Amino acid sequence: MRVLLGGWKRGTLGDNHDHLLNSGNGAITYSRGEHSRRDTEDQLRLLISSVTDYAILTLDVRGYIASWNLGAERIKGYLAEEILGQHFSRFYPPEDVAWGKPEWELESAIRLGRFEDEGWRIRKDGTRFWANVVITALFDETGELRGFGKVTRDFTQRKHAEETREMERLREALHARDEFLSVASHELKTPLTPLQLKLSAMRRTAESNPEALVADGRLARELAAASGQVRKLADLIDDLLDVSRINVGRLPLEPARMDLSALVRDVTTRYEAQAAAAGCRLELELPTSLEGMWDRRRMDQAVTNLVTNAIKYGAGKPIRLSLSADDTTVVLTVQDEGIGIAPTQQHRIFERFVRAVSERNYGGMGLGLFITHQIVEAHGGSIQVESQLGRGSTFTLQIPMTRLPTTGGPGMSTRA
Ligand code: ADP
Repeated sequence: MRVLLGGWKRGTLGDNHDHLLNSGNGAITYSRGEHSRRDTEDQLRLLISSVTDYAILTLDVRGYIASWNLGAERIKGYLAEEILGQHFSRFYPPEDVAWGKPEWELESAIRLGRFEDEGWRIRKDGTRFWANVVITALFDETGELRGFGKVTRDFTQRKHAEETREMERLREALHARDEFLSVASHELKTPLTPLQLKLSAMRRTAESNPEALVADGRLARELAAASGQVRKLADLIDDLLDVSRINVGRLPLEPARMDLSALVRDVTTRYEAQAAAAGCRLELELPTSLEGMWDRRRMDQAVTNLVTNAIKYGAGKPIRLSLSADDTTVVLTVQDEGIGIAPTQQHRIFERFVRAVSERNYGGMGLGLFITHQIVEAHGGSIQVESQLGRGSTFTLQIPMTRLPTTGGPGMSTRA
């Protein structure tokens, strides 16, 4: 272990921190009033000795305790006569003493003028307390090191409060994870169960009465239904993969020239049958074409999420989609007349795993809007909702209009 010796001069360690160093004279300004300088110095001494919230002590150049106040007695538990002349390393836990932390702190204080640390320290009775420590190197007017001032505060309660808050945060995160696992398993199971039933029924028919399978196009119908369930499963898994991608950074985009009008038409055609089954008429207000540079697959995903939500939460009522653009911005709105969203939930629904409906009435992992929000942000845009409970919701996407490359090459990109 290194032992600090006296004889340090300001600047001995080749630093350039004079402005930080305690200058001995001049650091304290005395009033010119009736009090003599001696009175004021007595007052200062009294102040230091009677302060109880702070342990204020001085050390000699080698770290031996030279003065001790009431606060030090209160925080560390030693009376002045028990501790004066002892090395200050006795306040440090053995593992810190073993690597030379006390000496390192003094060296740092010499080098920097001042050294601050938070960590565990030991009281006289052996218990630990969480200390905030400031050590100041004391140089005299000739620049010679005369010792150190050390001010310690007991932050144990603050530390415990922080730890309690952290525990609470961890507990909430664990709870959210467990809840998510249960919702996700339920969601994955929903298409899996009918798929399993369908496949076993088909196998039984194939074994007992294979002709019945092909009669009336049954095989084609059953297979179409089965692949619908597989697609649902694949979509759910894609959503989970997207969330884990987003967790490790932003969604990577692959912008390319595309027609947003055509994309909205494609999505609505894809969901026409589902909308009709839910009693929703899809009304479109689109320009003939609206070309720009965006990530086609991601835009499809965003529009799909809004349309499927409108069908899910707006059954039995019309759904209106409108698309427009000026020189700078594309605006897409998806409006339903469904159950609406409570004002207290409206800002939360874009968060991960947040659902504003009971899972008994509606399925869903609470990921669609989160992913949609991320996609829109990755394109430099924004998403908003306006909604009234029982009246319906309108989701509005605003996305920067991107210039098409004049050469037709792949040089253009949206903000990713
Ligand atoms: P979910 O899979 O639960 O639909 P989303 O992230 O797509 O997840 O939506 C989050 C929540 O926002 C939903 O659980 C629902 O409560 C609410 N929500 C989304 N879209 C609508 C809508 N068009 N009408 C009413 N509520 C909606």
